[in-house]
Amino acid sequence: MTFMRNTRKCLVGKVFYDLTVLEYIGSKPATSTNPRKRPWYKCQCVCGKIIEICGKYLTCNHTKSCGCRKIIVADKQINSTLYKGTRPCLLKSTKVRGDNITQERNICLTRDGGFDVSMTIQGKRFRKYFVNINEAIIFRDNIKEKYAKPIIEEYYNNILPSPTCIKTIQ
Ligand SMILES: [Zn+2]
Repeated sequence: MTFMRNTRKCLVGKVFYDLTVLEYIGSKPATSTNPRKRPWYKCQCVCGKIIEICGKYLTCNHTKSCGCRKIIVADKQINSTLYKGTRPCLLKSTKVRGDNITQERNICLTRDGGFDVSMTIQGKRFRKYFVNINEAIIFRDNIKEKYAKPIIEEYYNNILPSPTCIKTIQ
């Protein structure tokens, strides 16, 4: 009991990464599968969200935010992950290289004034020469629609970050 009271006292006002402990809200099981009662707290995340969380997850550094931090981390992972031999973030990107005169992704101006469409999806290389830039754009967009879009959708729909062990108060 002494331990419980001390834990209660020492956690209120403390900051655990993005979470500031506002108040002690009572004792209840940490998870639905573990009947042992633990102190719970109301915390505010740096993003402004108020959550209720079991103190255990704060003190063991398990939970560092309301879940928004996890989403940022997941986004970073998504951005560098190789999926089915390709990087979904690059397929999704519309950013054009600074030195690209055409200002169209995957389309380069050739020496004779034509346009080279060049892209690699899942190790498959697509390359075609066009005299007209509009035809080059149509070709590129068709390749994207047919080969890149299914991978992007599959990847982004299946990987959704899910914060655990916290309860969000609306
Ligand atoms: Zn947050």
